[in-house]
Amino acid sequence: MSMSPYETTNHFLQQAFDVLKLDERMEVLLRTPSRELRVELLITLDDGSLGHFIGYRIQHDNSRGPFKGGLRYHPKVDLDEVRSLASLMTWKTALIGVPFGGAKGGIQVDPAGLSERERERLTRALVGQIHEFVGPVTDIPAPDMNTNARVMAWFFDQYTRINGFAPAVVTGKPIHLHGSLGREAATGRGCVFATREVLDVDGKNISGTRFAIQGFGNVGSWTANLLHELGGKVVAVSDVHGGIFSGEGLDIPSVAKHVAETGNVLEFPGSESISNADLLVCDCEVLIPAAIGHVLTDQNAREVKAQYVIEAANGPCTAEADETFRSRNVLCVPDIFANAGGVTVSYFEWAQNIQKYKWSESKINDELEQHMVDAHTRLRRVMNVYNIPMRTAAFVYAVEEVKKATEGRGME
Ligand code: NAD
Repeated sequence: MSMSPYETTNHFLQQAFDVLKLDERMEVLLRTPSRELRVELLITLDDGSLGHFIGYRIQHDNSRGPFKGGLRYHPKVDLDEVRSLASLMTWKTALIGVPFGGAKGGIQVDPAGLSERERERLTRALVGQIHEFVGPVTDIPAPDMNTNARVMAWFFDQYTRINGFAPAVVTGKPIHLHGSLGREAATGRGCVFATREVLDVDGKNISGTRFAIQGFGNVGSWTANLLHELGGKVVAVSDVHGGIFSGEGLDIPSVAKHVAETGNVLEFPGSESISNADLLVCDCEVLIPAAIGHVLTDQNAREVKAQYVIEAANGPCTAEADETFRSRNVLCVPDIFANAGGVTVSYFEWAQNIQKYKWSESKINDELEQHMVDAHTRLRRVMNVYNIPMRTAAFVYAVEEVKKATEGRGME
């Protein structure tokens, strides 16, 4: 049986522990989540009936700073997945060099089945249950799958009603409500910087390269747009309903318009329709999974035609897929680097809220670029020092940072 998401993250983490030859005591300290909240959310649905949902907030590590991580609303959210995502945040914040720890949360719900008012009530109910454990210097949530600036505004408002004005309690807020310029695009933009740096090492450019992107939500659509602007040929995109392909390259602004009008990418004029499974193995040079976890497995990893897999999504590869890519010399750019642009600009938003000052969009994008470029340089250095794959190097660097903070703070 293949590993669960949390087992997969611990497997990757263990590879770094082995490189660093950590003692078992430190391994346990670094691996174990600090606090796990599971809450019952009872709300009145629009028809007057009772809605009953389960919410989670898992705080993995805060040795380097307050816990930080997104909130996901999805039917598959469970303890194991949230544990995995919370742990990934600890290593991501350490690798990219922002002063936060790692956390993640979510609600097991299909948000498509809820009205806007119901989603608002559910978000406010979550705040009611977890507000004592989050806060601007404690734990700072952000958007993830099926949550956005609107959801963050409700979270901020409900927290503020209980605890007083505190915009820094969440990031990814609307611009007019203490949000940051550049935050919405940040994960996609960071992913494009990562892609540019990785291709550059091999003497390649984004311009003219063929990309396939799974997921056309916040991360996928921004990544597609920015690659398209830089002359990249985005040959395939998809959403939960299916995908579209064009060997000539899709006109991404027109695809975005089509999605705004019809609600999905399907039947985009001039494209071939493909399944999500087809997209992962389609003819392209760079594959960018930007939707859900564990889509690349032992089976399809062998069929992937791309030479690069850029993990815009969290945890898109199983441990077996990762091994297959290593053996096939497909460069897998790990999630804790590839999608770290989101938490980087979340840090800038938090800093602006604390400073009560606004930064320009160009300052934000420039600082984001510098963070991604520096992290890539660090990754290449660690890869060379230990002669290890990029994912292991990312965990090695991050583990060393968190270990230093853990040791520096000491234990009772
Ligand atoms: P989103 O809800 O905005 O978009 C998700 C997209 O994936 C949608 O197009 C949806 O239709 C598609 N999708 C959902 N289920 C699918 C399936 N089974 N097969 C194919 N496509 C499917 O979410 P997002 O914020 O863009 O997040 C996408 C991924 O990026 C997640 O793994 C998330 O954890 C990761 N991520 C997001 C951020 C951020 O800032 N939003 C930051 C870092 C990482």
